[in-house]
Amino acid sequence: MAIVYLSLGSNLGDRLGYLQQATSLLNAVPEINVVSTSSFYETEPWQMESENWVVNAVIQAVTSLSPEKLLDECQRIETLLGRKREPQTKYSDRTIDIDIIFYDNMVLNTERLTIPHKLFHKRAFMMVPMLEIAQDFVHPLFKKTIMELYEELDNPEMVLLYGTRV
Ligand code: ADP
Ligand code: MG
Repeated sequence: MAIVYLSLGSNLGDRLGYLQQATSLLNAVPEINVVSTSSFYETEPWQMESENWVVNAVIQAVTSLSPEKLLDECQRIETLLGRKREPQTKYSDRTIDIDIIFYDNMVLNTERLTIPHKLFHKRAFMMVPMLEIAQDFVHPLFKKTIMELYEELDNPEMVLLYGTRV
């Protein structure tokens, strides 16, 4: 069994509803058990050409799936919840985005999967929710806790409503 942290984000339609549905659908996969979930945070779109603010959360789960199979399930649920993928516009509005942040202490770099998530250490909107549920987790590449990484952010203001629960 691996302990995994997943980032959920939505900036289209019933954003909170999509995060809740994604969490239930993940938990409904026999090989995935959701252990805890963070609060929901509303954040300004970051490096996205969009006016629509994003609702973000992080969940902790245990799974017997490999990272690739876990990604398959995440992408299946994204599609189920109406996520449209348009290759030209990478950071476009989305009903739901499910990213794998950490998979135990695994470090993985394949064409399809980078673990830890390659932008985690720059994204307050991933760190702040994760701080609620795993403050002492040590980033396997930087060897620093989430709190230490958060304190090093040079632009924590990118989460404009930091700590605001929806
Ligand atoms: P983004 O999450 O960057 O907004 P997408 O959700 O469309 O964009 O993902 C693009 C690709 O990123 C996916 O097809 C997947 O193969 C790849 N990817 C690489 N590392 C990860 C990860 N840790 N979690 C989720 N997807 C990842
Ligand atoms: Mg994604």
